[in-house]
Amino acid sequence: MSSWRDNVRKVEPYTPGEQPKEEGVIKLNTNENPYPPSPKAMEAVSQIKNLRKYPDPAAVKLTEAIASYHGLSKEEVFVGVGSDDVLAIAFMTFFNSDKPVFFPDITYSFYPVWAELFEIPYEKKALDQEFKIRIKDYAGENGGVVFPNPNAPTGILMPLDEVEEILKGNQDVVVIVDEAYIDFGGTSALELTRKYENLLVVQTYSKSRSMAGLRIGYAMGNKDLIRAMNDVKYSYNSYTMNEPSILMGAAVLEDEEYFQETRKKIIDTREWFKEEMKGLGFTFPDSKANFLFASHEKFAAEELFEAAKEKKIYVRYFDQPRINDYLRITIGTKEEMEALLDFFREYFKEK
Ligand SMILES: *Cc1c(COP(=O)(O)O)cnc(C)c1O
Repeated sequence: MSSWRDNVRKVEPYTPGEQPKEEGVIKLNTNENPYPPSPKAMEAVSQIKNLRKYPDPAAVKLTEAIASYHGLSKEEVFVGVGSDDVLAIAFMTFFNSDKPVFFPDITYSFYPVWAELFEIPYEKKALDQEFKIRIKDYAGENGGVVFPNPNAPTGILMPLDEVEEILKGNQDVVVIVDEAYIDFGGTSALELTRKYENLLVVQTYSKSRSMAGLRIGYAMGNKDLIRAMNDVKYSYNSYTMNEPSILMGAAVLEDEEYFQETRKKIIDTREWFKEEMKGLGFTFPDSKANFLFASHEKFAAEELFEAAKEKKIYVRYFDQPRINDYLRITIGTKEEMEALLDFFREYFKEK
């Protein structure tokens, strides 16, 4: 007997980090920014009117603000509902070859989920012993390349000359550089979009701009790439950007001082935290992101993850080969990091 169940699309969904409902939690598990967004965001709320009407499908106000911030024209910017939306549309738009798309084996775990959903063939390329992306693995024939820089969850930054090497070897396919964490110490590949028309650089408001709750991401690149993405978007859902996001997203770009200040606070806390963690027996690749990917010489990561959670401190643990001895710890405020360090000190003393 046939059933509607036979025709249900079966997918293995992406699992995001927990959003605990209990009170008094120290939340260092989803790389959110511990500081509020610029006050300009809330000021912009008062300008929200006309919620009765559909928003501008091209979100021109926001697109122009982002373009001008990065020295681009609005035809070179695509905005979406978080970079997850932008990346998903980019996968749909650019990865339509029979050849596999390449990405690292240890990376943002949404990539294989989209590849499966859109039936895109893919091949994972193993990171080296030190968790670095091996440039030469990306030289073979492929249907496209995508990687985060800095990589997640390792935090390792690829220098721009290596990004360019990947581009040099892949000029017939689209190369996507996912720069969710670039503001915490890296140099954006944006300048390379001038030289490589097949490069798409994706950034987000969720981490460095403290606006994960608003959902704003964007892609920058050659206007033909952007036009192709818009064609796909308008074939799928025209009104993705809501009016509050458009106004608040544009407004915060006017507050460069606040952005630099909070960015610096996180970088400073991260560098101090690295030293403290070394002192406690942790090892980790050098991170240029707003998290540290750390392993302890004596204690298993899963045990520490569970024990910290008991004390209402949430970090991220991935039960996956090669990385199941690591904790990914978001850089919060200095006080939050002190609380986590105190927890480790207590726990190690008792054992
Ligand atoms: C957080 C993250 C994203 C998605 O962020 P959005 O909130 O959807 O903008 C994309 N890529 C990587 C590597 C991330 O860590």
